[in-house]
Amino acid sequence: MLSSAATPYLPAATHGSDLAATVHTAGQVATVALILTVCIALYLLTCLVWPFGKCRRCKGAGKFKSPFGNAYRHCGKCDGSGLRVRIGRKVISYYRRTHNAATNSTSKGRGK
Ligand SMILES: [Zn+2]
Repeated sequence: MLSSAATPYLPAATHGSDLAATVHTAGQVATVALILTVCIALYLLTCLVWPFGKCRRCKGAGKFKSPFGNAYRHCGKCDGSGLRVRIGRKVISYYRRTHNAATNSTSKGRGK
C-alpha cells in the first residue's frame, strides 16, 4: 500500500457513501445560507425602521469645534446633520427605485 500508513482515516472516510457526505455538506450550506438570509433580513428591517446612523467623521455632532473660542464649522461629509444613511437603507432605496421603474414601465416616464 502506498499511503495507508500516512492517511489512516482515508479508508474509513471513503467507506461511507459519497452521496450521504454530499447531502450532509449541502445541508450545512443550506443552514448557513438560511442563517445569513435571516440576518440580512433582520438588518434590512432595522434599516427600514432606523435608516440613519451617526456620521463617522463627526461622530454624530454635525460640526467640528474650533480649538479657540466657540467657533465651529459644519461637517462636510454629512452637511452638518450628523446623520449617515445606513448601507441597508441604500440597498432598500435602490431596490425600490428599480422596482418602481419596472412596475411603472407603462407610464411615459420623465424623459431624458
Ligand atoms: Zn458629519
